[in-house]
Amino acid sequence: MGFPVRYYCPHCETIVEIERDGYLADKAVTPFPFEGWSYEPPTADFEDADGVVFQCGEDGLAIDGDGCGERFYLSFVRYENGEELDPRTPTEQVHLGNESTPPSPSGPRGPPNGFWG
Ligand SMILES: [Zn+2]
Repeated sequence: MGFPVRYYCPHCETIVEIERDGYLADKAVTPFPFEGWSYEPPTADFEDADGVVFQCGEDGLAIDGDGCGERFYLSFVRYENGEELDPRTPTEQVHLGNESTPPSPSGPRGPPNGFWG
C-alpha cells in the first residue's frame, strides 16, 4: 500500500524514512510547526493529520546516523475552499455574506478632482 519516503532533519540532516500512502502532498519540512496545522507522530495515523512530528533519531526512524533528538515537522498541503493554505499568510479571514459574490466597491467615487497643474 504505502511507500517509503525520506526526509532530512533540518537540524542535523539525518535522513529519516516513513511510509506514506501517497495521496497527500508535502508542503515543507521545518524545525517548527505551522500555526493551525495538527501533527501526529509517525507511529500514529498521521495521514489523517495535517502533518507529522518527528523526533530525530526516535524509534529507528533515522536511517543515516543517530539523529539529534530534536523535533521537526513535515507539513502537508492543506486546502480550504479549494485554495491552498499558506501558513505564512493569515488564514483567519472573515467571509461576509455570500462567498460567491466578490466584495463590491462602495459605489462610484468619481474621478479625482483638483489637479490644476
Ligand atoms: Zn536531527
